[in-house]
Amino acid sequence: MSSKFRLRWPVDDRTITQHFGENPHVYAQYNQAGHEGLDFRAPVGASIYACADGVVFDVRPNDGNAYGLHVRIRHRVNGCEYRTIYAHLSKVLVSKGQHVRASGLIALSGNTGHSFGPHLHLTLKLIGAKTPGYPDGVVDPLPYLQEVEIPAPSDLTIYTTDQVRLRARPTTASAQLAWLDRGEALTVLGDAGGARARVGQRGQWIQVQRADGMDGFVAAWYVQLQPPSPAPPEPTPEPEPAPAGPLVVYATEALNVRKGPSTGTSRIAIALPHEPLAVIGDQEAALTVLGDRGEWLQVRLPDPSPAPSTGSRRGSEQRGLKGYVAAWYVQTEPGPAPDTLLTVYPTEDMNMRERPAVSGRLIGRLAQNAPLTVHDDPERARPLVGRYDEWLYVETEEGQRGWVAAWYVRIQPPSFALPEPPPELAEAGPLVVYATEALNVRKGPSTGSSRIAIALPHEPLSTIGDQRAVLSRLGERGERLQVRLPQGNKGYVAAWYVQTEPGPAPPPALTVYPIQDMNMRERPAVNARRIGQLAHNAPLTVHDDPERARPLVGRYDEWLYVETEKGQRGWVAAWYVSTTPM
Ligand SMILES: [Zn+2]
Repeated sequence: MSSKFRLRWPVDDRTITQHFGENPHVYAQYNQAGHEGLDFRAPVGASIYACADGVVFDVRPNDGNAYGLHVRIRHRVNGCEYRTIYAHLSKVLVSKGQHVRASGLIALSGNTGHSFGPHLHLTLKLIGAKTPGYPDGVVDPLPYLQEVEIPAPSDLTIYTTDQVRLRARPTTASAQLAWLDRGEALTVLGDAGGARARVGQRGQWIQVQRADGMDGFVAAWYVQLQPPSPAPPEPTPEPEPAPAGPLVVYATEALNVRKGPSTGTSRIAIALPHEPLAVIGDQEAALTVLGDRGEWLQVRLPDPSPAPSTGSRRGSEQRGLKGYVAAWYVQTEPGPAPDTLLTVYPTEDMNMRERPAVSGRLIGRLAQNAPLTVHDDPERARPLVGRYDEWLYVETEEGQRGWVAAWYVRIQPPSFALPEPPPELAEAGPLVVYATEALNVRKGPSTGSSRIAIALPHEPLSTIGDQRAVLSRLGERGERLQVRLPQGNKGYVAAWYVQTEPGPAPPPALTVYPIQDMNMRERPAVNARRIGQLAHNAPLTVHDDPERARPLVGRYDEWLYVETEKGQRGWVAAWYVSTTPM
């Protein structure tokens, strides 16, 4: 039997409308890193139930406070004190001091306080816990809601090699349940043999239980099978680690470096796991947010270009690009240097740009056939080569780095092929065209405009506008065509990546599964309009070339265009899905 604290659903509807940590721009006004709880869909008057057995310790009126009319319940489990807060209510059915049972009716939902509409807001506190960016005790309630079977304790004990977080799920993106001390003994839950094989392995996780009964996941690369050797004897003078010099961190995987502290700002570089990133600003503050979801660090990248000749006006320590990286995708230990990097060759003389956009500042001119090293994970970069509307971050033989259009480079030094002649004029009616490959459909006629869909080669796209004018632009580089997708929405595609004949039927589509309940969005961005709610493990068909989509699965800061079993299409965060149900 598990001793873990569990939350029953507080409403009848199973729809979460806002997760923990979402919408940081909204919650900045409350000095919080994001939404401090979960919102559930609940019309005014819907029944609200207690999440667990407990005692009502406060009922507060709708007196102008942000939660409006709300109830606070205290729960004591295994020596831990949890508190649940039910906010924005219309009517409270319990009183202070009253004992309540799990799933007992306590209130009716409403729209009081700082509410954007009728819903139930639930805050969970674990007294003594701290989620950085939130008031003391506040934790993500979601892991407590999930009906997960906890495996039985095994006879294997493992030990932490450092102070490390116990997490709710096997990912650095999940909630932090507790700090584990260095050398803390943990009982492995479930298969001991499998866990033993993962000890010390980077990227692996082990489900464990603490002596006090709390269970969760620990990073396998921070544990060992033997207790750590005792601390050195007292008299040995312990040299203070020199705080001089900046804090240096390393990406845990090929990581986008952005202009600002948000995924909505433009990419300026890609950092690889072996490259030192010097943290700019308050080092103490940086250390406290390291590994925390939703936090960003400003860093200076190493300068790859040759040392400047004498007379440079800037000192060497001042060189190197500055940008922002996700704090939960960096660590203080360097990762391995890549075995190989991909080399590509321009198919013609081309531009190098400061950002991955045709509107990015021009920073260099590259000659046809000049080799370029792709500064990225080869597995992620290879499927992009030759693709329209994708960009690669490359380094020249002279050490200059920047962005190049992926559709102007090849993996082999190029040999030239003449373009296909334009098609003959078709008969009346809207001209129907087909993508020559999985093609981005954008809101406006430029690569700077946001993506709204991906069109596959067999899907008919009805062009909008005069057929003769459309035909004159077909196949022309730099021209855009406005089209209507089979689903009825309109967008723009590159005229030189469409043809009048349908392409072959697609290869078997990739299927992915949400690792938790998640949002479907209108565009590939966390601030884009939410158009659906997807359930944990509900299969999603990736509406894209599987070869292009597969390397993105599980990657932070990438998005996938998917279709649900009911036929709804939209964008999901690639780092919240898996190729197998979890
Ligand atoms: Zn809320």
